[in-house]
Amino acid sequence: MNISSKLPNVGTTIFTVMSALANEHKAINLSQGFPNFDCDEALKKLVASYIKKGHNQYAPMPGVPALRKNLIQKISNQYGANLDPDTEITITAGATQAIFTAITALIRPDDEVILIEPAYDSYAPSVKVNGGIVRTYQLSAPDYKVDWKAFSRLITSRTKMIIINTPHNPTGSILEEEDLRKLETLTKGTDIIVLSDEVYEHIIFDKTDHQSVLKFPELYSRSLAVFSFGKTFHATGWKMGYVVGPDYLMREFRRVHQFNVFTVNTPIQYALADYIQKEENYIHLSEFYQKKRDFFANRIKDSRFDLLPCRGTYFQTVSYAKISDERDTDFAQRMTTEYGVAAIPVSVFYNNKKDEKVVRLCFAKTEDVLEKAAKLLCKI
Ligand code: PMP
Ligand code: GLN
Repeated sequence: MNISSKLPNVGTTIFTVMSALANEHKAINLSQGFPNFDCDEALKKLVASYIKKGHNQYAPMPGVPALRKNLIQKISNQYGANLDPDTEITITAGATQAIFTAITALIRPDDEVILIEPAYDSYAPSVKVNGGIVRTYQLSAPDYKVDWKAFSRLITSRTKMIIINTPHNPTGSILEEEDLRKLETLTKGTDIIVLSDEVYEHIIFDKTDHQSVLKFPELYSRSLAVFSFGKTFHATGWKMGYVVGPDYLMREFRRVHQFNVFTVNTPIQYALADYIQKEENYIHLSEFYQKKRDFFANRIKDSRFDLLPCRGTYFQTVSYAKISDERDTDFAQRMTTEYGVAAIPVSVFYNNKKDEKVVRLCFAKTEDVLEKAAKLLCKI
């Protein structure tokens, strides 16, 4: 049969490719972003208890009411926004589904969507499969800051959406209050929707406050914000997340959501509803990961890699410009096969494969693994 692919230029994601290469060569896998430690025993017990109690059938389409209510309370405590649990939040099967569903619900053929590159790998295909047109704004190493004046030149009458991500994967940079204010001004009075990927909201360092779109009422009035329990509770395999936005956008989101997944894992929703009620279960996350960032950074600071600033996420980017001038994809491959540490080349997150000789290392690992990896990196 002759199938004309809707995504002809999409191959296997870099995360799958590098993890497979790491496994094949028994390299330490600092490529794909996931912890090598387990989630909290108490959370696992809660899930088991809700399965035992028989919460095993479909949840309501927008999510279990207790979870929505408790998340809205958490949002109010954190960001000072008072939202409606019935109309402004939907529980999703992770952030990826939330992003895909939001784009599918809102982007029509020929609508333009602006991405800030390096951009998380699911954004562009999600836009393209819906017939949207991707416009890109490129950040540059080492600080990956947005110049909003330059950015504003990308906005046209066809711009329908801007996707932001803070703290930022893969660079570990963050958007500051001033950035959000500029974005608010730029989009005020337009029909542009802001899709804000905030899956690392609780992994932000050096006592900095995360700047969520939920803190800016004017910006929030045209935004959808996406979150993931996978990052916050060390459970990336559960694929649980949620999306928050004003009712008129959430209505559109749910129109697609109900036919995309309809509803997501019931017992885990009940467990999370209980678990998130205790702040203790997430407020120390930044501290926890900052220790890992510093532990790892201290052990590679005398290597030939240059460390780039890491202000959030569990990724440390490093420049290998002093070591080699080969392409980052080749270098990342060689790091894995010859030196035993797998990394993600940052160029893959640019549409034009801009290569600044930077690779991303995931430090969501136990200290023994970080120590071993650092020793290997110091030999390169
Ligand atoms: N956005 C970003 C920036 C991410 O890093 C990730 C996952 N690492 C996701 C979205 C997807 O999250 P989930 O696993 O909940 O789908
Ligand atoms: N988000 C994770 C990362 O950036 C991986 C997600 C995936 O494997 N698709 O590494």
